[in-house]
Amino acid sequence: MYPDPIAAGPALPEPHPGHRPGVPTMVKLEGVSRRYQVGESEVYALRDVDLEVDQGEFVVVLGPSGSGKSTLLNIIGALDTPTGGRAVVAGREITGIGKGELFGFRRDVVSFIFQTFNLFPTLTALENVQCGAEISGSAKEARRRAIDVLEQVGLSERLHHYPSELSGGEQQRVAIARALATGNPLLVADEPTGDLDFRTGVQILQLLREQAEAGRTVLVVTHNREISRVADRVVELSSGRVASDGPPPGGQAAIRDLHW
Ligand code: ADP
Ligand code: MG
Repeated sequence: MYPDPIAAGPALPEPHPGHRPGVPTMVKLEGVSRRYQVGESEVYALRDVDLEVDQGEFVVVLGPSGSGKSTLLNIIGALDTPTGGRAVVAGREITGIGKGELFGFRRDVVSFIFQTFNLFPTLTALENVQCGAEISGSAKEARRRAIDVLEQVGLSERLHHYPSELSGGEQQRVAIARALATGNPLLVADEPTGDLDFRTGVQILQLLREQAEAGRTVLVVTHNREISRVADRVVELSSGRVASDGPPPGGQAAIRDLHW
């Protein structure tokens, strides 16, 4: 009789928190560090971070200011490069990615949403979103898609408004629509509710959560512990390291139960 290869082999790695069997991995970081040289001393924005995120997960990255949250997102979105370890996103090795591949990665894989919305002030809501859509399609098709996603985020009545004519929450919804218009499977949002009041912030979270329910992978960074309660999974950073990783303590909260 042959020994059972599974029983006899080395212990299988623990699946990461939240992993559902058969769901592909969207993000895989292995021992990722980001070091800065500041004068004579070295500062680690991230130190030896391991992280796996599956397709369709809604993950909140929580931590105080300076804990490395933006650095983590920027590495996952290939805006920054690790000084150690490796990062694989949507099956692409992005650690030493070349310029040509980088263009394809940004066009096809990841879309960013920022705290300050980053809309073009001289373009209307529709034109801002159409820009996102045009990256991967004809102008006509892009316009149709832009109108479609603006409707999804509840802005059909604001297509021809300029950012200065929209509230903060509406501007953030335009930014989300722009990210959705690309059709990219990975959305990363850096403090997307940071500049918004409570009610508006909740609407934005709801919208992001729906995107995960629709099968996109969504990573949201915040320093607000209350926000983290709505996640499937909370990755807590402390001084550039993963301090904890798992479902929110006390279980996942409904968005209507948040207070902040
Ligand atoms: P967070 O988004 O959680 O506030 P960041 O990822 O922006 O944190 O920064 C993490 C740490 O890295 C901070 O201590 C910050 O001072 C440091 N850091 C970020 N960018 C630089 C830089 N360009 N040079 C030196 N240190 C930096
Ligand atoms: Mg930050």
